[in-house]
Amino acid sequence: MDGMNLPRRGLLLGSLAGVAALGGTIIPAGAAVPRATEQAPGFYRHRVGDIEVTALLDGNLAFPDAALPNLFQRYDAAIGTRLKAEAFDAPGGVPLAVNAFLVNTGSRLVLVDAGAAAALGPALGQIPRNLRAAGVTLQDIDAVVLTHLHRDHAAGMLTADGAALFPRAEVLVAEAEAAYWSDTGEETRAPAPLSPFFGPARAVLAAYGNRLRRIGTETEVAPGVRTLAIPGHTPGHLGVHVASGGAQFLMWGDVVHSQTLQFARPDWSISFDSDPDLAARTRTRIFDMAATDRIVIAGSHLGFPGIGHVARRSEGYGFVPAMWRSPL
Ligand SMILES: [Zn+2]
Repeated sequence: MDGMNLPRRGLLLGSLAGVAALGGTIIPAGAAVPRATEQAPGFYRHRVGDIEVTALLDGNLAFPDAALPNLFQRYDAAIGTRLKAEAFDAPGGVPLAVNAFLVNTGSRLVLVDAGAAAALGPALGQIPRNLRAAGVTLQDIDAVVLTHLHRDHAAGMLTADGAALFPRAEVLVAEAEAAYWSDTGEETRAPAPLSPFFGPARAVLAAYGNRLRRIGTETEVAPGVRTLAIPGHTPGHLGVHVASGGAQFLMWGDVVHSQTLQFARPDWSISFDSDPDLAARTRTRIFDMAATDRIVIAGSHLGFPGIGHVARRSEGYGFVPAMWRSPL
């Protein structure tokens, strides 16, 4: 930046006003290329030793500001407003992405979560398109690990008619997760925010029939790819850990719903955690482990591609996104 003199703010705004007064001569009357209405395809590759991980974007949402006090346990409006300002969030809400991840070991293609399809509105449901853009067909997928059975992770397992979208894939779900959402007694006892999740979860389990494999919390999915228990968000919430050539990578599912709020305030659990206090303890434990061991993490709701590091900060923790990298 040496030798580059940026104008002071007043000078910059003044010079733009001058251009506008001259009839906007900075902008040609008709650009040669029409303005785009869509983002570039939402896939991003990351290498873990010999294993390739591809982040896939399902879409973006926001938690509206008015909902935050009810959505986050222990939410404090003054702190929340400050964190939003520090994150430069657009007015109106805190943003979140919905991401899934594809793991290619060279011999096995494993999808981790499948997005929301149409279950949560038209902003989501982009995973099939982004898979295609990454050069992968639905037929290619050997296995899908569902970190849990909430709609933003599992509804994308089904076609619009409710059939299995992935024609060949084995579907791996934690035993505790499958048992909980299948239990009508649990549905009756569940707090109101959880009740919309039961029916869609059962529909996914039913659609895959004998291709459904109920697994223990620590299961090898492919060489170098293992599930691990990340308890609190749901009864059988799983992470997926990849290790190859000395490199580690942890897909942590829903440890974080709001990048803006929960790195600084890990104790602010979301209302649809099955066990918010356990989720908060888990979040702090995983943050601490990721920061200490310098593990690359990937989150379902971090800004796409949702890959980076956790850093200790004077106020809780922070997220350090990985830099776009090419070649791999
Ligand atoms: Zn989620």
